[in-house]
Amino acid sequence: MKALKLEKNKLELDKKLELDKTNIKKIKPFSDVTEFHGHICPGSALGYRAAEAALTQLSSESSPDEELVAIVENDSCAVDAVQVVTGCTFGKGNLIFQDYGKQVYTFINRNTGDAVRVSLKSSFNMDKIDPNLGVLRRKVRSGKASPQEKDELEKLVGEVSQKVLDYPLEDLFEVKPVEIQIPPKAKIFKSLKCPECGEMVSEHRVKILDGKFVCMDCFKSLKKE
Ligand SMILES: [Zn+2]
Ligand SMILES: [Zn+2]
Repeated sequence: MKALKLEKNKLELDKKLELDKTNIKKIKPFSDVTEFHGHICPGSALGYRAAEAALTQLSSESSPDEELVAIVENDSCAVDAVQVVTGCTFGKGNLIFQDYGKQVYTFINRNTGDAVRVSLKSSFNMDKIDPNLGVLRRKVRSGKASPQEKDELEKLVGEVSQKVLDYPLEDLFEVKPVEIQIPPKAKIFKSLKCPECGEMVSEHRVKILDGKFVCMDCFKSLKKE
């Protein structure tokens, strides 16, 4: 009887270990990014690869809570991929946006303190993959493209995105370990009622006007008067 029980425990343990093994560095499929982002594009493919580089380097899976922090230096399509793959999201406060207009991403693992800076190599650009992409895109945006050219662009966007997904990672990004101060976890603030509009506003965003605590909206419009 006892032997049987042991055998059963062992089986369960084996099963658990197997599960753990499959979880290691399991990176979400690109289709998850497309579902969230709404379309396939080279930008989201690039963000996917940046997240892949970071997760591989930091040996971390996606961040169910806040173990991982991403500092992104642009607000392009790529950032949607970063959010899906790493679990660093705007809403959780572990996605920090710095408006520098650069394809640079810094990821920090709170548990280990390790951080990596993933920056797009200057030797890479989308034109290198297919110079027609930029030409066609400009034409479609200007409204002068024929229906065939529009179809062609759609096809090309898919092809270039696939090429970005297949591109050697080391030719896309510079991945460097960096030392960085771990940003504090997201705080929860109290709210108070704005005496002007009656709406609730988070304490850390109130403005003082004539000795009253008002919301940003009301502060701006009252200041204009
Ligand atoms: Zn996009
Ligand atoms: Zn107000």
